[in-house]
Amino acid sequence: MSVRLGTPLSASATRVLLLGSGELGKEVAIELQRLGVEVVAVDSYAGAPAMQVAHRAHVVDMLDPEALRAVIDLEHPHVVVPEVEAIATAVLADVEADGIRVVPTARTTQLTMNREGIRRLAAEELGLPTSPFRFVDTEAELASAAAELGFPCVLKPVMSSSGKGQSVLRGLEQLASAWRYAQEGGRAGGGRCIVEGFVEFDSEITLLTVRHSGGTSFLDPVGHIQVDGDYRESWQPAALSPAALDAAQAVAATVTDALGGWGLFGVELFVVGDDVLFSEVSPRPHDTGMVTMVSQDLSEFALHARAVLGLPAGGAERLGGTAEPAAASCAVLAHGNGVPRFGGVDAALAVPTAQVRLFGKPKVAGHRRVAVTLARGADVAEARQRARDAAAAIEITLD
Ligand code: AMP
Repeated sequence: MSVRLGTPLSASATRVLLLGSGELGKEVAIELQRLGVEVVAVDSYAGAPAMQVAHRAHVVDMLDPEALRAVIDLEHPHVVVPEVEAIATAVLADVEADGIRVVPTARTTQLTMNREGIRRLAAEELGLPTSPFRFVDTEAELASAAAELGFPCVLKPVMSSSGKGQSVLRGLEQLASAWRYAQEGGRAGGGRCIVEGFVEFDSEITLLTVRHSGGTSFLDPVGHIQVDGDYRESWQPAALSPAALDAAQAVAATVTDALGGWGLFGVELFVVGDDVLFSEVSPRPHDTGMVTMVSQDLSEFALHARAVLGLPAGGAERLGGTAEPAAASCAVLAHGNGVPRFGGVDAALAVPTAQVRLFGKPKVAGHRRVAVTLARGADVAEARQRARDAAAAIEITLD
């Protein structure tokens, strides 16, 4: 079937509504713009990164079903592309039933907005290996779950991301404070949590997996380091034994086939020897996958844009040839309050192969990722060092 794309701002326009307008959405918007798509960006605050490169923008509380429905009715998108989990997903089910394509599917947005939905699907329905886990609603249930799973264990609100409300419990004395922290850190104001046995993994990877009109394609595995549940560095390719890579691809194929639809998925896995454990999946580009902006001719964002439009998205080529086959990214965080200003960008770009993305976030309150540095190298160690050197050269002041 031939895919037709229109001309933006005309009667024939192919309209995409982005729900979430952060740095990942900004790159998706740019890739959609390159294909002549009319891009409408939505987020809960004005001036969000993707809004700055969209045809139109709306400030909407995406957890409010009526407000979300109203913006969809106003814009009549052909495709709705969620960039965040915190969305009134019941509305997405309604609009999908009305014939609008929801990426990857409305059901998937429902299953992945809550750790419980995706964990039960993966572990109980699909039988994939995961950490041992229990769901708990009270501190008393946490105490018995921790007793069953043993210490250390990890407590996370079922509705949270970027490490918010998450802690590692090393003993009984930490139960009360961890429970309090989880209740404060959950997206929906506390509530149900998952307790997981702590996995002593050798490494953790994201297997970027694209479901597109031409089939399912895997990108080279991305290795990464998380601090407090938030990504700091990623690199590609992650060193994996052939058996572990086979296992990773099998898990990613199983979970993405079960979810269905078109788009790029970030499948998060823990590697233990030749085995992998499923951790979670994002049905959208992944922050650790920003490294693909320098490792491949088609980044995860370009592949997502193609896939969601029904275009083939296999066959991305590695950049760097034999001289610089490895690539890395390093997150740049700002701390404090104010509008960021970036010094030392020239010094950062003086690092061989280095590139910088400044997200254009309108303000910082607390800790916020505001930029990323990217570099290639002869091996992962060199690429990571270059990305770190470039990040260290950037001086952020807040006005
Ligand atoms: P998540 O938000 O579930 O992706 O967790 C954020 C990070 O916390 C992961 O990338 C791991 O580094 C760490 N983590 C989460 N769950 C576990 C676990 N069960 N065992 C060990 N580390 C974990």
